[in-house]
Amino acid sequence: MKSIDKAVEVSAQTTRNVLKRNSIRFAAVLLAALVSLVAAPNAALAAAPQHHDQVPGFYRLKVGDLEVTALFDGPAVADLHWLNGAKATIDSVVEAVHEDPHMLDAADSGFLVNTGKQLILVDTGAGTWYGAGALGHLAGNLRSAGYAPEEVDLVLITHLHSDHIGGLTTQDGKRVFPNADVYIAKAESDFWLSPEIAAKAPKDAQPFFQSAQAIAAPYIKAGKWHTFNGSETIVDGMQLVPLHGHTPGHTGYEFSSQGKKILFWGDSIHAQRVQLQHPEVTVVFDNDPPAAAATRNQLLPKLAREDVVIAGPHMLFPGLGRLHKEGSGYSWAPVAFTDQWVEK
Ligand SMILES: [Zn+2]
Repeated sequence: MKSIDKAVEVSAQTTRNVLKRNSIRFAAVLLAALVSLVAAPNAALAAAPQHHDQVPGFYRLKVGDLEVTALFDGPAVADLHWLNGAKATIDSVVEAVHEDPHMLDAADSGFLVNTGKQLILVDTGAGTWYGAGALGHLAGNLRSAGYAPEEVDLVLITHLHSDHIGGLTTQDGKRVFPNADVYIAKAESDFWLSPEIAAKAPKDAQPFFQSAQAIAAPYIKAGKWHTFNGSETIVDGMQLVPLHGHTPGHTGYEFSSQGKKILFWGDSIHAQRVQLQHPEVTVVFDNDPPAAAATRNQLLPKLAREDVVIAGPHMLFPGLGRLHKEGSGYSWAPVAFTDQWVEK
């Protein structure tokens, strides 16, 4: 019995020693870790590689029963030389750009409306018509948003400049939206697709005519190119809003649902931080600059009075917001990001 008691006593002592040694070792390891943290703060963070990708370029908003998805085509920057206005105004813009190089930052976007019955794309971005590079991401972002180009039923075009229609057609003449019917104002289609008008146009404007004709061609051939005069109903709950001036048939599309409205205003604004404060400033791409300014001067006060969501392809992404009167001009209130699927 005695030898057993002795063996138990020795075994208990050994266990205590092991535990003691282990706890000393654990304390030493902990101390070393703390010392290294104090000596090199954030060492682990500094070693992490930077990531050069971005979240997918789409943003959803509910407008009544409509699901609107902004689709990013790419970043853009307006050029000072594009702007025309009174000398004092342009001088003040030049000074502002000198102090803030981001003054003329812009974007190119299209917008998808899912009405529950139809999938409608408003403008298509530039596709490959500005070369490979910053623009042309709309179709990829459409897929990221959960839709395929084949699912698009209608494409509504605000005007026939290639930064709005380039995404319709590949360089080798294939339709990107093979099942879509394309709608465009008759005045717009007649102007840009006319060989006679193109022949008389200034050299600078020639590329716009050439791209419009090449991009439209496969849809015309397929019987998918439709024009409107302005009185037709193309989609229930959608009104055509003539915004003549930037181009001959420049058109906005206003959708209403459950008392809520959203206006897709095309190129009513190119450089938001300049033209909202100075709506009289025009751009060199305006076919009829006085008409473009007059249209803006009619449209902006109306939008500031009404609670209309605006979707602007060249407004900073997601290009969705509201206007408020501010001084002699207007301020832009972008929609607030939310991951709650409720209307904002
Ligand atoms: Zn544009």
